Amino acid sequence: MNTIDKLAEQFSKLPGIGPRQAKRFVYFLLKKDDAFLKGLSENILKLKQDINTCESCYQFFQDKTKTSAKKCEICRDSTRDETVLMVVGKDADMENIEKNHIYNGKYFILGGYLPIMSNDASWVRSDKLFEIVKQRKDELKEVILALSLNPEGENTIYHVTRTLKPLTDKYPIKVSTLGKGLSTGTELEYSDDDTLKNALKNRS
Ligand SMILES: [Zn+2]
Repeated sequence: MNTIDKLAEQFSKLPGIGPRQAKRFVYFLLKKDDAFLKGLSENILKLKQDINTCESCYQFFQDKTKTSAKKCEICRDSTRDETVLMVVGKDADMENIEKNHIYNGKYFILGGYLPIMSNDASWVRSDKLFEIVKQRKDELKEVILALSLNPEGENTIYHVTRTLKPLTDKYPIKVSTLGKGLSTGTELEYSDDDTLKNALKNRS
């Protein structure tokens, strides 16, 4: 296999990229100069060195303080409301909510959604969520499941609610889901300011 085919095969493993698009990427790169290619490969190599996973919310973050912090800036921020925990599917969902400044509590990144009809918990970090909620049972009043209202989202909400039940039965912690303002199938990652604000306001 030549280098073109090898690289195309690697690109085709990226989410949403098929073999034809993967080839297009390779031919695009062939037209770029050395500086572009060097920058690209350096950043790929640095990714794992520079980016950490927060031990509290599990988002990827770059430790700008270079103190090998184990928690991200949001988790270290003492002005954030400790009584609410928003559970989102992925980093991009959280980024969108942060960008719109509609929420000032803490987060938890579930790491994905549970496929329809599946109860295989390895798809999501529900066991880690259980541990975090247990650790914070004294200050925590509400866990907001900010998940898209599609079939995978509904299945994930069902699974997470059931996982947290031993804690929510025992302690005064409410589990809420976003209001229907967030129409079925809407991706949290792409929702606009008003949609998010309404969905958060109308949670139940
Ligand atoms: Zn964090």
